[in-house]
Amino acid sequence: MIEVAEASATILSEITPLAAETIALERAAGRVLAARVVAETTSPPWDNSSMDGYAIRSADVALSGGTAGDAPRLRVVATIAAGGLAPRPLGAGEAMRVMTGAPIPIGADSVIRIEDTDRGSDRVSILAFRDLRKNIRRAAEDFAEGETLFEPGTELRAAHLGALASAAVRSVEAHRRPRIAVISSGDELVELRDYSSRVAGLRIVSSNSWTLPQLIRDAGGEPVDLGIAADTPHSLRAKLEQARGCDLIITSAGVSVGDLDHVRSVFAELGGELAFWKVKMRPGAPMAFGMLGGIPWLGFSGNPVSAMVSFELFGRPVIRKMLGHSKLHRAAISVRLAESVEITAPLTHFLRASVNRSADGAGAYVARLAGSQSSAVLTAMARANALLVVPAESRSNPAGSTLSAIPLSDDLQMSERFELQ
Ligand code: AMP
Ligand code: MG
Repeated sequence: MIEVAEASATILSEITPLAAETIALERAAGRVLAARVVAETTSPPWDNSSMDGYAIRSADVALSGGTAGDAPRLRVVATIAAGGLAPRPLGAGEAMRVMTGAPIPIGADSVIRIEDTDRGSDRVSILAFRDLRKNIRRAAEDFAEGETLFEPGTELRAAHLGALASAAVRSVEAHRRPRIAVISSGDELVELRDYSSRVAGLRIVSSNSWTLPQLIRDAGGEPVDLGIAADTPHSLRAKLEQARGCDLIITSAGVSVGDLDHVRSVFAELGGELAFWKVKMRPGAPMAFGMLGGIPWLGFSGNPVSAMVSFELFGRPVIRKMLGHSKLHRAAISVRLAESVEITAPLTHFLRASVNRSADGAGAYVARLAGSQSSAVLTAMARANALLVVPAESRSNPAGSTLSAIPLSDDLQMSERFELQ
């Protein structure tokens, strides 16, 4: 049996980011750059107006005194729309009507917002001077052609996609998305589509075939569901062989010490190298890791909650590392217990918990258990938004004590209220 942290380090030491591929911007969301991206164009391409108003030369206005009493009047010689062009440079004593985003004529250094003028069409009076030398967005203020926009390791989100599109970048080099074989095993299991009243007394639905693929998708991987292996060496061998070509194999069940737990022996027979098969944690102590023909294998316990907890601790970081991320783990937060929590076994416990911000508004988090802690009770896992981490030596934890918790989603960052008041 090894400690949780050691298990994690052992697994991750075998994982490297997947090779780069060229992908179209349309499919690049959530991917991590494998090469830096350089702008193909300049943004904005020209000096342009950030207001609807009149482009002017501040010198024309300053010469005429600069007070509202003797409002300077300028000749309006053109109108420039967003998408239009200045017909010629701006001369002395002239103004051009400009819309937001319109190019600024050469010679202008200010855009007076329309509210500060008499809105004249042949001649315009400037009524206030707060906009002198203002309201011009400079060419290349965002980026210039040839400039590095984003470095390798950057995850592409909405703002990146927008910036890349405005930089005329149509494709990027990103790490490949890992394909992850998911194998369930057990003679008691059926697929949901094969469940009927006929098998109701004999079989259970393979819920791991729903939880694990969805967790894989959430983490950015692509699940390849290979279905259910029977509890025979032959059937397991066939499934493991089908997993060749994937980047990671996740099996659930068959790694404990039951008579029909063949996964480890078949793995060895196929030439797999086992690194460990027990971790000092609950749930999920029977948990194997090894390499099979260069493909990492995570062998989770079949218990539905155990498999999910093991995925959170060990599976998600593997997928993130393959995707090219440097932040692999969910960051733990500090929580105060709303009720006492006892553990009996000297194992690190990951309890299904409901964490909320405390009502006192101090920003602290309060945790309570989210129902049964049986590793077979998925509804408590569904109700939980975090795993409460109870160290092996913390047998007894009274209400009010502080522990850490690992969020399971972004639920903790969401609020029922609009908070900016
Ligand atoms: P095992 O790891 O084979 O000892 O299985 C532990 C428990 O998990 C048993 O009660 C199994 O019936 C259950 N189990 C195993 N695989 C699955 C699965 N894919 N979906 C739901 N329950 C499972
Ligand atoms: Mg079994």
